[in-house]
Amino acid sequence: MASRYAAEEERQAILVYLEQTGGELEGVSLELLGKGRQLADQAGWSLGGLILGHGVGDLARQAIEHGADEVWLADHPLLADFTVEASTRVTFAALMEGRPSVFLAGATPDGRDLAGRLAVRLRTGLNADCTDLRLDPQRGVLTSEVTGFGGGVLALLEMPSHRPQMATVRPGVFPPADPDPKRNGKVIELPVDLTAEMIRTRVVERVVGRSVDLTQATVLVCGGRGVAGDFGMLEELARLLGGEVGATRPPVDERQVERERQVGQTGVVCRPKVAFACGISGAFHFVVGIQNAGTVVAINTDPEAPIFEFSDYCVVGDASRIVPALVQALQEEGEHA
Ligand SMILES: Cc1cc2nc3c(=O)[nH]c(=O)nc-3n(C[C@H](O)[C@H](O)[C@H](O)COP(=O)(O)OP(=O)(O)OC[C@H]3O[C@@H](n4cnc5c(N)ncnc54)[C@H](O)[C@@H]3O)c2cc1C
Repeated sequence: MASRYAAEEERQAILVYLEQTGGELEGVSLELLGKGRQLADQAGWSLGGLILGHGVGDLARQAIEHGADEVWLADHPLLADFTVEASTRVTFAALMEGRPSVFLAGATPDGRDLAGRLAVRLRTGLNADCTDLRLDPQRGVLTSEVTGFGGGVLALLEMPSHRPQMATVRPGVFPPADPDPKRNGKVIELPVDLTAEMIRTRVVERVVGRSVDLTQATVLVCGGRGVAGDFGMLEELARLLGGEVGATRPPVDERQVERERQVGQTGVVCRPKVAFACGISGAFHFVVGIQNAGTVVAINTDPEAPIFEFSDYCVVGDASRIVPALVQALQEEGEHA
């Protein structure tokens, strides 16, 4: 089935859905602006940002400083809280008007909700949960990298004839763009055609359930099955280093650690400066969550453990002895400082 607009009708532009909550841009939106800027520069295209909300005009400046050439702003009281009906309607109209070749959104709960509906309405494809993006400047085709078949393979997906080429990307995959206060850009105010009857969702209360956001941690101390449930020592190490505790899936499944601390393909993808992997074998599903870490330190009793292939510092030994020794050394250093 042909998409609502064809490749021949596209504008050579990338549009990023700039998700905001309570008047603040989500981290993944700034990350997508950074990646979008890089791809647009390679192809000589323009980069736009789409902001939906009410009273959020100030965010346009921030988006321009982070790389957008133009910001499309839809401001309306019915966009104050995210509802998928309103956001789909307004974004669909914006895309049909602007006809960008590429449309990117964060793989957040709201971004996933929106992108799925939009793809059906636009009769185009959606590459969900991408771990990398490339753009062929000659063909104007986006290549999206996703993990497939339970993480066993990396698949490269393209949609040469459908537009827009849509992809969602998980938070933490790309570094955020550095702001440049001197950048100039254009703000385009979009007409918004919304009435309360069009929106079936009613926002009754907003409850933020996440007590920890591992994507923001600069130091991550991860434990696996090999720490045998002793996450207390990892918490102490994380506290001394100003970091957070993460885990592989088995300790999470065994309820030794909260689900929001699971790192990896079905958990959180992180970008810490330093990641410790204690008692972790190094399955691909886990490694994908720390592959962007600056430095990886692994502690494992098995010298053949696959985690050592991804590590900068490899400690062959028992985590239940090495972690307390590290904690003690850091405490002593603190006392002498
Ligand atoms: C579709 C799918 C999605 C998945 N998503 C995720 C995900 O998001 N995140 C994730 O983590 N997993 C995920 N998994 C599971 C993943 O495949 C692995 O099974 C899991 O990561 C293994 O966890 P582990 O390293 O803690 O345990 P194990 O593989 O059992 O490794 C334990 C390690 O501890 C070492 N060890 C034992 N005792 C000690 C000791 N005293 N000191 C030091 N080292 C010791 C052992 O040598 C071993 O290497 C997923 C699986 C599937 C199929």
